[in-house]
Amino acid sequence: MRDFELVTPATLEDASRRGSAADSRFIAGGTLLVDLLRLNVERPGRVVDLNGVLSSKIEWSDDGLTLGAGAKNSDVAHDPRVVRELPLLSEALLSGASPQLRNMASIGGNLLQRTRCSYFRDVAVPACNKRAPGSGCAARDGYSRMHAILGVSEHCIAAHPSDMCVALLALDAVIRTSRPAGARELPLDALHTLPGAHPERETTLEGGEIVTEVYIPRAAFGRRSAYVKARDRASFAFALASAAVALELDGETIETARVALGGVATKPWRAAYVELALKGRPANSETFARAADLAVTDALTTPYNAFKVELAKRCVLKALLRAGRST
Ligand code: SF4
Repeated sequence: MRDFELVTPATLEDASRRGSAADSRFIAGGTLLVDLLRLNVERPGRVVDLNGVLSSKIEWSDDGLTLGAGAKNSDVAHDPRVVRELPLLSEALLSGASPQLRNMASIGGNLLQRTRCSYFRDVAVPACNKRAPGSGCAARDGYSRMHAILGVSEHCIAAHPSDMCVALLALDAVIRTSRPAGARELPLDALHTLPGAHPERETTLEGGEIVTEVYIPRAAFGRRSAYVKARDRASFAFALASAAVALELDGETIETARVALGGVATKPWRAAYVELALKGRPANSETFARAADLAVTDALTTPYNAFKVELAKRCVLKALLRAGRST
């Protein structure tokens, strides 16, 4: 562990300014950054503490739900209206990490989680394009059971680790930020980037840009929803595959469907083919099975993670069956 300067800004503007240097890092709950500091993966010159400037609101309006980036994962997961009106979000949050970590972790930090690729976290491994650009990718010829099969590149196959982001993608969430050039909004799908030739770039955030809020627009499909996660143990484990599903029915017909995948892609992944196969069809197990079969197309697998193709389909089917039964 190396020395760094810890600053506690009084305003968002001050935080942005102090956090815009290339060797600055923001901290809120600290559940990831402290890990990476200990592992020497992160070696910042300055850490900017956002706890005094981020809102922790969980605010419902006629239009939707606004979450302050400083809200704790556990507070959002247990909010009674989130449980009732956006069950997939509550279930996704409660499936992540452990109770202790959820009590500390912020919503903003969850959005910006780094991959759990074991080669990325081990500085004794020289080849990791995400940690050391241009050094190669140890996972491509290494042990890749946890790695992605969608959105991969020859430079990186690391899976995105967040459960919450998968639910937020299905809910058409919007991210609000503060940055030196002014505030802006962007759809969640535009926040995370594919690895391509530059896996060290993980988001479209600019230097000094801070996520301030997540906005979830009110939609009829939020209530009839489910999150299903397959993992190696029942708690404190990242997804091998997961699915977030939300449905709006008109009688027995599927009016709108939202389906997103986790654990299998380099960023939270919208399953557009599945949504198309559901729209306008009767909400029954035959429709769900046919649609779930389309969940993974154009996968690029390794001998260790090819099982994820079938696992992802089964997660989608289980989530559809659960959402279809809910009211
Ligand atoms: Fe690094 Fe990505 Fe390869 Fe993992 S998969 S070793 S994070 S480049």
